[in-house]
Amino acid sequence: MRIGIPRAFLYYHYFALWRVFFTDLGCEVVVSPPTGRSILERGLTAAEDESCLPVKVAYGHVVALAGKVDYVFLPYMKSVEAKRYLCPKIIGLPDMIAHNLSGLPPLLRPEVNAYAGPDGAERAYLAVGAQLGFPRERCREAYRCGAAAQQEFRRLVEEGFLPEEAYARLEGREVALPAAPRGAIAVIGHSYLSCDSFVTMDLVGRLREAGYRVLISDSLPAAEVDRQAERLSKDMFWSFGRRLMSAGFHFGTRDDVRGVILLTAFSCGADSMVEPFIVHAAAGKPFLNLTVDEHSGEAGLVTRLEAFLDMIERRWSA
Ligand code: SF4
Repeated sequence: MRIGIPRAFLYYHYFALWRVFFTDLGCEVVVSPPTGRSILERGLTAAEDESCLPVKVAYGHVVALAGKVDYVFLPYMKSVEAKRYLCPKIIGLPDMIAHNLSGLPPLLRPEVNAYAGPDGAERAYLAVGAQLGFPRERCREAYRCGAAAQQEFRRLVEEGFLPEEAYARLEGREVALPAAPRGAIAVIGHSYLSCDSFVTMDLVGRLREAGYRVLISDSLPAAEVDRQAERLSKDMFWSFGRRLMSAGFHFGTRDDVRGVILLTAFSCGADSMVEPFIVHAAAGKPFLNLTVDEHSGEAGLVTRLEAFLDMIERRWSA
């Protein structure tokens, strides 16, 4: 059985678990190719105009799997921790795709809902395994192995590897962190945006090439996210927005962080709420606010990035 996984959205967070779960069950996992012009074009044609860029990109990745797999795995990721939810566009994506697109392989759409209880995630994988005809105990064992791989993935990301680099290491490929003689720059943004080198015009690669270590918001351990979130007078119920805000508080005050980049998607309602907090938290450090959409051009990014790096040079050499 060939299970297709779109290289979009929660792929950047949970692929370690998904890959091990399905391969342990004896399935072949097929990931859509890295985002490129044709995937983006297909997404733009298929998705609703008012969607944010990551939704359009996700559409393109699902379309890219059509005809190549027996199923597409597109879980309803409602909640990944107690008392918090993900963005409604992430939750609604499987329904939007099922209703808007035709000619796709059958979608596997289990509900991952940690809000409903501590075993909310495991139940989703047992359900999808049952749908594919595997015995419950075998699914449970595959899920346990997947959860262990997920823990190892988290450890690698906290060490500084990007999600794709961590996946490569989990598959036994050699990946080393590049030298960073100029210090660290924090890139605060959702990994499905900051780690997609096509939509960001290789922002992370350019920073690394300039000699900086890149710290993404997902490299923050969960305990630090919780600790920083205590600064808010009211807890935030969006898991990802809460993480971005905590990353702003954390990196905004860390001495080894030379500058902060806030990366958002045009028309993202959730990020427009957290943005002022992050701008405030990073006050005093060189700061670059980048918003991307499907019309963003490379020349604009390069000019702004160069100005930002110049600002850092002047600040820290003064
Ligand atoms: S958080 Fe923003 S960028 Fe992410 S899916 Fe929701 S609207 Fe889109």
